[in-house]
Amino acid sequence: MPPTPLSDRPLLEVAPRLAARPFLPIAELPTPVLPMPALEAAGRVWVKRDDVVSSLYGGNKVRRWEWLLAEARAQGRSELLTIGGPGSTQLTSLAAHGQAHGFEVHGVIFEQPPSAFVDEALREDAHYRATLHFSGGYARTVLDAVRFLAQHPRAYVIAPGASGPLATLSYVDAMLELGAQVKARLLPRPDRVVVPCGSGGTAVGLALGAALLGWRETTIEAVRITDLYLSNPLTLGAVARACGALLRREGYRGPRLTTRIAMNHRFIGPGYGAGTPAAERGAALFERAFGLPGEVTYSGKGLAALEQVVLAHPRETILYWNTLSTTGRLVS
Ligand SMILES: *Cc1c(COP(=O)(O)O)cnc(C)c1O
Repeated sequence: MPPTPLSDRPLLEVAPRLAARPFLPIAELPTPVLPMPALEAAGRVWVKRDDVVSSLYGGNKVRRWEWLLAEARAQGRSELLTIGGPGSTQLTSLAAHGQAHGFEVHGVIFEQPPSAFVDEALREDAHYRATLHFSGGYARTVLDAVRFLAQHPRAYVIAPGASGPLATLSYVDAMLELGAQVKARLLPRPDRVVVPCGSGGTAVGLALGAALLGWRETTIEAVRITDLYLSNPLTLGAVARACGALLRREGYRGPRLTTRIAMNHRFIGPGYGAGTPAAERGAALFERAFGLPGEVTYSGKGLAALEQVVLAHPRETILYWNTLSTTGRLVS
């Protein structure tokens, strides 16, 4: 499928000045909404298939690359640098889409527990020709990234999670896209949207989008998948304020937007990337539902939370926002 042009994105009606920003169409939209497979809950659990948002490599980061890669290109940058674990879906996604658009992609890599998915991601990073610089713990990794930048001062840096205000706007647009699907009666309006949450841009963008839609009763349930000091109501609040301010600069004229986010801290276990029995069950649910191996870092915890949330809220319509790609994966 060809990518969807910027003029077809509902966000432009809200913030029309965005039309003048550099933009690189990559996403194939709208992503489908379907009843959630492999979960017994009689038609009230749905899934938003951002796993197929690009036929090259889908999943959570694609919508953000459209703004960030365009900005990098407009600034004349040819190198992209990001930081992540060896199983980082952000790095794999950046490797695939960065290479497709002529960038050289570098990753400084911190330690993460080994798993089959980590092996898969490393195969994919190599396939998409990313250069990996293996580091150590978080502090050493920051130091190595600073060293890299001293040698490559023109590299365009994408922080772990990529939840700056410009990138977060892409998930405001994604929620408006869901709003149009609800309006077209493809699914009922969800009472709750469950999504894995790291740096928070996804959950915050969706919550701002829900506010724009006037969905006051819809809660975004953000399932924390990284350390509390990186992902908490204060960090998410900062992302929301920055993104809200950018929306205004880009032409939004409506009332102040209030977000409705419930953070779920029950599934993180020992930390980012750590497998837990619940995350393993979530990974198995991913495979039953979507036919490809799951993983324990993002979707395993997100789907474990979904199972719990479905039981805890027996009368709600619940949507799971699927963030792990099912395209472009090199499954052995
Ligand atoms: C980045 C990512 C997330 C979390 O998104 P944030 O916006 O950083 O909270 C969830 N799932 C996958 C697969 C991701 O790559």
